[in-house]
Amino acid sequence: MKQSDVMLACIADYGGRVRGKGYPVAEKEKYVRRGVGLAPTNLMITSFGAIVNSPWGPRGDLLMMPDPATEVVVDHGDAWPAERFVLCDLTTLDGAPWACCPRSWLKAGLARLEGEYGLRLYSAFEHEFHYTGVSESGGNAYALDSFRQQGDFLSRLVGALDEAGIEPEMVMPEYGAGQFEVTNSPAIGVASADRAVQLREVTRSVARAKGEKACFSPVMGAGLVGNGVHVHFSLQDRDGTPMSYDATGAHEMSAPMSAFVAGILAHMSEFLPLTASSAISYERLQPNRWSAAYNNLSVQDREAGLRICPLAEGASKAGFNVEYRASDASANPYLLLGALVWAGLEGLAKDLPAPQPTDGDPSAVPQAEAEKRGLKRLPMSLSEALDLMEASPVVREWMGDEFLGAYVMNKRSELSLLDGLDLDEQVAKYVDCF
Ligand code: GLU
Ligand code: MG
Repeated sequence: MKQSDVMLACIADYGGRVRGKGYPVAEKEKYVRRGVGLAPTNLMITSFGAIVNSPWGPRGDLLMMPDPATEVVVDHGDAWPAERFVLCDLTTLDGAPWACCPRSWLKAGLARLEGEYGLRLYSAFEHEFHYTGVSESGGNAYALDSFRQQGDFLSRLVGALDEAGIEPEMVMPEYGAGQFEVTNSPAIGVASADRAVQLREVTRSVARAKGEKACFSPVMGAGLVGNGVHVHFSLQDRDGTPMSYDATGAHEMSAPMSAFVAGILAHMSEFLPLTASSAISYERLQPNRWSAAYNNLSVQDREAGLRICPLAEGASKAGFNVEYRASDASANPYLLLGALVWAGLEGLAKDLPAPQPTDGDPSAVPQAEAEKRGLKRLPMSLSEALDLMEASPVVREWMGDEFLGAYVMNKRSELSLLDGLDLDEQVAKYVDCF
């Protein structure tokens, strides 16, 4: 029987899932030109698959416009059919960016960063996940034995990422039983978020082809180590000259980098649902979890909202970067990076000074001083975070009423599907879908 290769045109939705529609690969140029129809309510599918509520109901039409630069082919050889997908922008039928499209929202922020400040964002996502193909016995944190047990999964993954142009950097056994981490090289602008979407799907695909699962749930059980997504970022000018480092600047940050970072910290509590997007994300965002519980800046502390990363003695200052740690893979990568860009722009517009870094436990900073410094415990649940986001005039200005309203509605729908479930039952639902 004849078989035809199929290309899936995909979008990353508000629930952090990648969904799409397929067509014969031989027809792909046609669909790049004319797009693929989509109902706006598709974005409102919750992480768990059900549509609970939608501002658009069954009405309206959009176009998914494939960006050929994002095309990925995962060739599994004889192990599994090859997989092909391409990422899309969402436009209205007349071709304008749709007001509620995550990728277009990130691009608009990046365009403003470049248009108004001559700056480009250079960033990379680090992903942690659990792989079912190893024994879950303890004692294997970062262990060679853990690497050994996964067999050829990671070599296949590195090969697939390489073939897809995602430029893999490191793979490693992580701290948790069955936990691994994969990183890729930084990229400019929207390409970095594209890589995050691609990398998660390629990782899932390579695991599936081995009859296993790569799971990106923010946590795997109460009290267990989380799967973080950490975003390293720096600024460049239009010629690619690094603009983040200044030996004489506060904590060696240039003035624009300081302002960008200050904007992120000032608004972190308000945009948090865009970066820690699931109910169980907040199980991870706690003190002593090596994640982030405060909107603090620190130098080389892995429990900070923003961590100034070290530069090896003699290393090029071009590598100077800051890491955002309050995020996980329940977040749509375009919304996650978009939140950092729009908040950074706010800092640049107000020319905010570099925040004072914390040294040690941020909860130990006396309350009066914390208030003076704007140091805050991050919201402790998705529901609390959504209330803050909805009430935030700045986030409303960045996103617009329709987009913000739809996102908050989607996340509240997700929460309604968890009503009455205890933490372990909630985790089980996210483990199933992520
Ligand atoms: N697993 C930790 C997290 O949830 C991060 C550990 C690390 O610093 O690599 O973010
Ligand atoms: Mg890690």
